[in-house]
Amino acid sequence: MKKKIMIIHTGGTISMSEDEQTGAVSPGERNPLTTIPLVVDSHVEIESYELFNLPSPHITTKHMLELSMFIDHHAVENAVEGFVITHGTDTLEETAFFLDLSVQTRVPIVLTGAMRSSNEIGSDGPYNLLASVKVAASEEARNKGVLVVLNDEVHTAKNVTKTHTSNIATFQSPQYGPIGIVTKRGAFFHHSPVAEDKYHVRAVTKNVMLLKAYAGMDSSIFHSLKDMKIDGVVLEALGQGNIPPTAVAGIKALRDADIPVVMVSRCFNGIVQDIYGYDGGGRKLKELGVIFSNGLNGQKARIKLMVALESTKDTSELQLLFLK
Ligand code: ASP
Repeated sequence: MKKKIMIIHTGGTISMSEDEQTGAVSPGERNPLTTIPLVVDSHVEIESYELFNLPSPHITTKHMLELSMFIDHHAVENAVEGFVITHGTDTLEETAFFLDLSVQTRVPIVLTGAMRSSNEIGSDGPYNLLASVKVAASEEARNKGVLVVLNDEVHTAKNVTKTHTSNIATFQSPQYGPIGIVTKRGAFFHHSPVAEDKYHVRAVTKNVMLLKAYAGMDSSIFHSLKDMKIDGVVLEALGQGNIPPTAVAGIKALRDADIPVVMVSRCFNGIVQDIYGYDGGGRKLKELGVIFSNGLNGQKARIKLMVALESTKDTSELQLLFLK
């Protein structure tokens, strides 16, 4: 029996073309990926579906939820045994992580994209798509969470991030590295994720802001946020989890208004901890009820807070969820 793999297109550079006259890269009437003959293993049967045709800066959590439900529906109703999602690279890691938290099926789910559009020299899209189908069809890819495959590397949705604006080796997992590689013969894994983090997501209604700390930051932005209708804040703090003393009053105001504040580090390696006792140090922030995250980057912590807030607003429960 052939293995049924579904390719779901959502847009991005991988589905775009470059205008020869102007050099502008944009989506056209027809997705060029749908015309490429994909030669994979004869045991694999491919079904393709165009869910969206959007540049990834146009993707919202509503699209992510629709995609998540679409995947679970087809895994159950259509017996799909592996999914490949083509996506713009700018927000690919956010969609990948949203799916990682929300999708219930255990079959492999792989996201891929491209840095060069379909008609550019050295276009990486068709190759990344082929490599992703190989991974999605591999038995070893099961139970590893949502994966991201580009440039012959397999990364976890949790750790991967876009690190370069234009280089095809842009997707990296800082500190941890890829968990597998792809070659002409198939996918080879050398690590497995140790934990799973799953939620039953039925809606995404919460408004969560993401801010970055900097030397000399004051409290004004936090006071303004408190007066807006927001449900939570993610702060990319300094180093191991500290902020300038002038920003503490603003964080306190958010906490007094019972607005959850999740802290990650603006460093792209390491985790935040309550180490420093000086004004603005992590210990003081912990006393204010700031939630410490476990190494997620800011954009992924925002996705997680949005998802978690659908089921709880309790700071201690949120803190436990952010230890995972
Ligand atoms: N700006 C594009 C997008 O995310 C970049 C890409 O796809 O590589 O849609």
